[in-house]
Order: sequence, then C-alpha cells, then structure tokens
Amino acid sequence: MPRYEYRCRTCGDTFELSRPMAESSTPAACPAGHDDTVKLLSAVAVGGSSAASPAPSAGGGGGGCCGGGCCG
Ligand SMILES: [Zn+2]
Repeated sequence: MPRYEYRCRTCGDTFELSRPMAESSTPAACPAGHDDTVKLLSAVAVGGSSAASPAPSAGGGGGGCCGGGCCG
C-alpha cells in the first residue's frame, strides 16, 4: 500500500499515512486530531511510475521568428 505524506496546517506537523491510492486525496486527520491537512507531493513508494507523460519541448520560443535563428 503506498504511503502518502501530509502536512497539518493547524499544528504544522507532517505525517505519513499508508492508504489505498483511491483514498490518497481524501482528507486525512493529523496525529493530533486536526483535519486541516494538505497532501504533500512527495515521492511515493510505489514500484514504477507510469503517470509520467512525455513533455513537449520546453524552452522553445513557440515558433517565433527570433526563436528559430532566422533573425541572424
Ligand atoms: Zn495537527
């Protein structure tokens, strides 16, 4: 079962929970009982990530004239 990291905005504590992936975005109460928590985008210990999609070429000028070297 993957582990997710959360941070409590009430007491500022961070904690981890092992929960099903389907419940990863459901609110989680911190160990102190607060329920104002946010899920952190930390590395999740699941084997292999298949969610990564190939990003389009970043950093390009978007096809502008001065972006392609045609302006000298
Ligand atoms: Zn708390």
